[in-house]
Amino acid sequence: MVKLGLVEESAQIQLAIELIQLGARLQLLESQTDLSRERLIKLYKELKGISPPKGMLPFSTDWFMTWQPNIHSSIFLNIYRFMVEYADVKGIVAVMKAYKIYLTQVQSESDEEPVLSLTRAWTLVRFADSKMLKMMPCKCCGGHFVVNSYDLNNDFVCGICHVPSRAGKTKAAAKAANVAWDEAHALCA
Ligand SMILES: [Zn+2]
Repeated sequence: MVKLGLVEESAQIQLAIELIQLGARLQLLESQTDLSRERLIKLYKELKGISPPKGMLPFSTDWFMTWQPNIHSSIFLNIYRFMVEYADVKGIVAVMKAYKIYLTQVQSESDEEPVLSLTRAWTLVRFADSKMLKMMPCKCCGGHFVVNSYDLNNDFVCGICHVPSRAGKTKAAAKAANVAWDEAHALCA
């Protein structure tokens, strides 16, 4: 365990609070701060009123390739890349800033859970950094979407231009994603 000065400790607690409020899981908190697991759990309970969920983080790129998650992941990663390139932020700060913008783009009136959680967004950035996932322009709309680096992506068409039939019953979701997509694009233009 790293011995932290008071100022540094205070800064890390502040970071942990912000991460917890954005929905971070314990593993994410542990990876981004030097605070002890016990302190993080205590902090989590104090803020959320419940214990942090147990269990490992999923270590698979599959989720990001499914239809609706892919659209949301793509919106987030576009914002994230924009932040890193133009807003002079990096690391977890860039993830948090991009995630807050993502929430303003996709969250509806209701208190529904966002499709992409902060922990998933962070995992997505790590997959992109390790080149397991990458961005690919859709040959129809030109928007950049998350794809698996190991797949052949010649003539790639995105999930909005080509909505799979199994997604038919979620036409409303497609429309909502489209609106969010346009807004996210307007932001980056
Ligand atoms: Zn497209």
